[in-house]
Amino acid sequence: MSFNVAIDGPAGAGKSTIAKALAKELQFVYVDTGAMYRALAYFFLSRKADISNEEEIGEFVKEATVEIAYEDGKQQVLLNGENVTSHLREEEVGNAASRTSAYPAVRAHLLKLQQDLAATQDVIMDGRDIGTCVLPKAQLKIFLTASVETRAKRRYDELLAKGEQADLSEIAAGIQERDERDMNREIAPLKQAEDAVLVDSSYMSIDEVVNTIRNLVMERRA
Ligand code: C5P
Repeated sequence: MSFNVAIDGPAGAGKSTIAKALAKELQFVYVDTGAMYRALAYFFLSRKADISNEEEIGEFVKEATVEIAYEDGKQQVLLNGENVTSHLREEEVGNAASRTSAYPAVRAHLLKLQQDLAATQDVIMDGRDIGTCVLPKAQLKIFLTASVETRAKRRYDELLAKGEQADLSEIAAGIQERDERDMNREIAPLKQAEDAVLVDSSYMSIDEVVNTIRNLVMERRA
């Protein structure tokens, strides 16, 4: 039977950094579900769909096929056969993903793909609803969070390091807005599963978080 680790939490908590590092160390497959929602959002934007119109999005989503592949161990997202990975990190795509992921038709479109990936291989899957909806039987569930200030500062430093301009208070407001939307939507809202372990990374280094979760994996696998 495959061993599944679910990591959920708000934007900017460090889920993907931690999950990637752990997956490499434990030789698990890393599955980034946010990238799948982003790929659909990219599809809606490129088709000039009205993302505020649930019915229209429900029709458009039927034309999108999302697949996952791995190149040098890195997840690639294929949209209707085309590798769209390099377009997914843009702010506009993230915002559209946050809005359209609230629609049941969009979530239903990705659920089976996510469950199938975890059924046959050891995975570390990150997202918002992995422990609560996608993999309710995951052997280990983590709810990884950090304060809004910490998450905004991390994002700010990341943008500056890339040579981009950034405004810390604007970033914090954007994070807060996304949190609200993710936590208050009707379907699959972001929340800690009852059996998830809470890890607050506000004052922890990446290595400390990785060590904490690795120890929990070791305990549960023993
Ligand atoms: O994690 P990331 O920022 O890439 O996710 C983009 C958006 O996709 C999130 O703001 C969230 O609304 C949505 N998402 C989701 N469920 C997941 C993963 C992401 O609703 N499992």
